[in-house]
Amino acid sequence: MSTPGNRVAVVGGGINGTGIAWELARRGYDVTLFEKGRCGEQTSSKTTKMIHGGLRYLERMHFGLVRESLRDRAWLLANAPHLVHPLEIVLPVFADTPRSRIVIRAGLVLYDALAGRENIHRHRRLGIPAMLSRGPLVREALRGGFSYWDAQVDDLALVRAVVASATRDGASIRETTRVTRLGRSGGEWIVGTDRGEERADMLINAAGPWMNELLRANGMRERYVLSLVRGSHLVLRHRVSDSAFLLQSVSDRRVFFVLPWKGTTLVGTTEVMHDRPLDGVEASEEEVEYLIERFNRYFAQKITLDDVASSFAGVRPLVGRAANPSALARDYRVVRSGNLINVFGGKMTTFMSLAQKVAMRVDNHFGKPRPAKPPVFAE
Ligand SMILES: Cc1cc2nc3c(=O)[nH]c(=O)nc-3n(C[C@H](O)[C@H](O)[C@H](O)COP(=O)(O)OP(=O)(O)OC[C@H]3O[C@@H](n4cnc5c(N)ncnc54)[C@H](O)[C@@H]3O)c2cc1C
Repeated sequence: MSTPGNRVAVVGGGINGTGIAWELARRGYDVTLFEKGRCGEQTSSKTTKMIHGGLRYLERMHFGLVRESLRDRAWLLANAPHLVHPLEIVLPVFADTPRSRIVIRAGLVLYDALAGRENIHRHRRLGIPAMLSRGPLVREALRGGFSYWDAQVDDLALVRAVVASATRDGASIRETTRVTRLGRSGGEWIVGTDRGEERADMLINAAGPWMNELLRANGMRERYVLSLVRGSHLVLRHRVSDSAFLLQSVSDRRVFFVLPWKGTTLVGTTEVMHDRPLDGVEASEEEVEYLIERFNRYFAQKITLDDVASSFAGVRPLVGRAANPSALARDYRVVRSGNLINVFGGKMTTFMSLAQKVAMRVDNHFGKPRPAKPPVFAE
């Protein structure tokens, strides 16, 4: 780091930290990002790979989050078409589907309305034959359904593209550099790492699920209670269908996806409280069984453990506490206190909006708004 009075240190090289580093670099800040491993290899590559508004968040009236996500979805489709592509999602309705057809239709009408002119395509009603032509669904209890549009992303590739763009625009990205100690001297931060010490005028904690751990380890107050909620996915060896499906589990009303993914199929996700170490997160046996069981309920071609090539899991740091993790909001908080900004929660989809909010707070700290160069992804 060089120019005092302009130096920003970012801890965490997930989609949020790298997005923030990119935004700040385009505003001319002297940015250094520290990542203990490789950028994107934690939560940000363990997602459902959806760039979406989040249809189910409407049920919880999170209209602001859905609207912002749909705007960011449109921006990514327009600006990163090599990484994000539109995806039609088929939403079958079975005799036992927990939400009625009227409720689902109302949600889809609202979803289209919130996307406004940036919508990909409007939702459609599908009859039973159309449903069966999309994939090997269980025929007996099928009552028809709908389809609507969202987008799919190669999540790790998106993070790497943001890293390349941030680096081109002047950010210094230090991978395999763990932040081990945070201290203050005068108005400066002293950022201790396993490769030496750096000084910064402002510190941004974007350590994802590790963020409270980082604060605690350095004697700082945690601003929010976070629930660490694990989500797991199965990767099936075969492609079940070229279509994507959103299904609803009867017993717990949860929704889950079955998605085509690079010649395989993803099934997920789960939501369970995570009370194990944050490094090396894995799907539990119960989660694998849960997903196989849910899949088999709705697909005629049954799967067993032999069909599962692998699984992966990530941990969402969600703001608040609730007996049911599905009830916790997926929105993010950006909290500045002096020259420290903590970033809580968030979705991959909204990383650009989040980065802009962080940058506004950095501008506030340094006393004047700075225009950003337009965000153009590096080739
Ligand atoms: C199961 C699951 C499915 C999801 N699906 C979707 C989806 O389909 N669409 C969507 O939009 N969002 C989805 N999300 C949300 C999305 O994954 C997260 O919002 C996003 O990845 C958060 O990124 P992050 O940068 O905050 O965290 P992370 O990607 O975890 O990055 C934090 C980084 O900080 C680093 N770090 C921690 N401590 C230190 C330290 N001391 N020194 C240096 N580095 C450190 C870590 O190594 C890590 O790389 C999903 C999340 C989960 C868990």
